[in-house]
Amino acid sequence: MSSPMPITTQPETEGVARPATTSPQTLDNVRCSRCQRTLNIGPSGGAVQFGMNSYYCSRCAAKVGFGG
Ligand SMILES: [Zn+2]
Repeated sequence: MSSPMPITTQPETEGVARPATTSPQTLDNVRCSRCQRTLNIGPSGGAVQFGMNSYYCSRCAAKVGFGG
């Protein structure tokens, strides 16, 4: 007599939940994640984005190897 253990497989919730976080991003005023220097986001502002909300200035970007 052996009672087989039921395999509980939890189905992954396939994207129905949308994040309703409306956070105003100040994209025109960000800071370098390394030297905390205020950067200008623009076509040639010198800011290098390496993450969602992470930026490097041109100097730090060159130091860490970004935007080279
Ligand atoms: Zn910097």
